[in-house]
Amino acid sequence: MDHEQVELLAIGAGPANLALAVAIEEMAPADFADKTVILEQHDNIVWQRGMLLPWTQSQVSFLKDLVTMRNPCSRFSFVNFLHSTGTLHDFINMASFLPFRLEISNYLEWVAQSLSRVEVRYGRRCERIEAIRSDDDVITGWLVWLSDGSAIAARTLVIGAGRDPHIPEAFGDLPRERVIHSTEYSARIGQLDPAAPHRIAVVGAAQSAAEMLWETHQRMPAAECSMIMRAIGLEYYQTSKFTNERYFPSFTDSFYSARPENRQRVLQEMRRTNYAGVTPELLNTIYRQMYLERLTGTQRLRMVSAVDVASARIEGDDVVLDLVDRIGGLNDELRCDVVLLGTGFERSLPALVRNVAALVGVERFVVSRAYRAVMPPGVTANCYFQGTNEESHGIADSLISILAIRAGEIVNDLLASRPAEQSLAAAAAAAG
Ligand SMILES: Cc1cc2nc3c(=O)[nH]c(=O)nc-3n(C[C@H](O)[C@H](O)[C@H](O)COP(=O)(O)OP(=O)(O)OC[C@H]3O[C@@H](n4cnc5c(N)ncnc54)[C@H](O)[C@@H]3O)c2cc1C
Repeated sequence: MDHEQVELLAIGAGPANLALAVAIEEMAPADFADKTVILEQHDNIVWQRGMLLPWTQSQVSFLKDLVTMRNPCSRFSFVNFLHSTGTLHDFINMASFLPFRLEISNYLEWVAQSLSRVEVRYGRRCERIEAIRSDDDVITGWLVWLSDGSAIAARTLVIGAGRDPHIPEAFGDLPRERVIHSTEYSARIGQLDPAAPHRIAVVGAAQSAAEMLWETHQRMPAAECSMIMRAIGLEYYQTSKFTNERYFPSFTDSFYSARPENRQRVLQEMRRTNYAGVTPELLNTIYRQMYLERLTGTQRLRMVSAVDVASARIEGDDVVLDLVDRIGGLNDELRCDVVLLGTGFERSLPALVRNVAALVGVERFVVSRAYRAVMPPGVTANCYFQGTNEESHGIADSLISILAIRAGEIVNDLLASRPAEQSLAAAAAAAG
């Protein structure tokens, strides 16, 4: 069967592949951009769909948008978005470097709509990838199967589909209606009656867990909200300007060339700068509320710290969490109606990356400095990974901080590895 063919197929229209689309339009020949397609499973572009709460802010400067650090004159900058949508004066007057999450989400949608050559296709979920083989059994391309049963062929793939939610084993057997992971929070929390006296357990000690706790407490005035964590208590994000320099794109070089054990140590040291903390503002807001509730004898917020959730089960109409105290070793249980999981994302590679690895017969890919999977002999097709290279490229890999620069690095690599006959054809076409 003949399938549609494109030059580059990018899976996922999140910030990573949108930054790539911008870099392709600005750096690659027009014939390359015209044959680049991005697939997005949803019908629109929304940043952090599950946690797009109106009061939440981005944690990085608006200058670390999809393009400014690579090309400050670009029409795709966040500042141009504000200008184009008539909101520049308001934003300046807020005097904050940190836009609301909603503003970043609107910016991403505006970027997607402003692309003139790269095409974003909505409502197209990539289900699986097959290898395209030549007569002499060389893998020369990829065939990407979509949820509507159609398929698209491409020589180069870019997988930027985010990471898979982490649901700890203990919660695996609970019925779906009793467990909400943060990636589904916005879509599902509205299904609970806001006036009912729900008993809510929020599991986790980082930003997403704290945001769910606060949002639930605010939207359900009769609910009791307990936050359950392994840590001995909530911690601030580490926000020192000194450690933040490790998020500069230039640090990727030092990290990439370091020995594996040193990379691991640095990642461990940097955990509190990204994963294992809460913004000082939110942490203080929650603490103040708990203080007031104690003072007035109306306690609805509770911290259950230094515990492991050993198992979770249904008993009657209750969800029962079996807790083991990490200090005294005692067992306890907590009864609730619904569990909210702020347990982050899987550390293992996402399913699509594992799919490509299985096709070419490798256990685990080595990824080049330019984010290209190093393929074994007998594979001429390329595949790039965005957002899943923390172990080799550093903690900023899943963040917005380095996207503008990374997109430029990928495009340079793509153009350098483009078969010569295609570049010649493009030059001939350009020459008329
Ligand atoms: C709550 C939260 C807040 C965050 N805040 C910040 C912040 O302030 N600053 C920061 O730098 N980082 C932040 N991050 C990190 C975040 O990972 C990055 O900001 C950014 O979203 C990563 O972009 P991405 O394109 O790699 O992945 P994603 O944003 O996850 O986008 C992936 C896209 O791929 C689509 N997709 C997935 N699978 C398929 C498929 N099979 N077929 C088709 N499409 C598919 C998804 O629908 C989605 O649109 C935050 C993360 C979370 C969870």
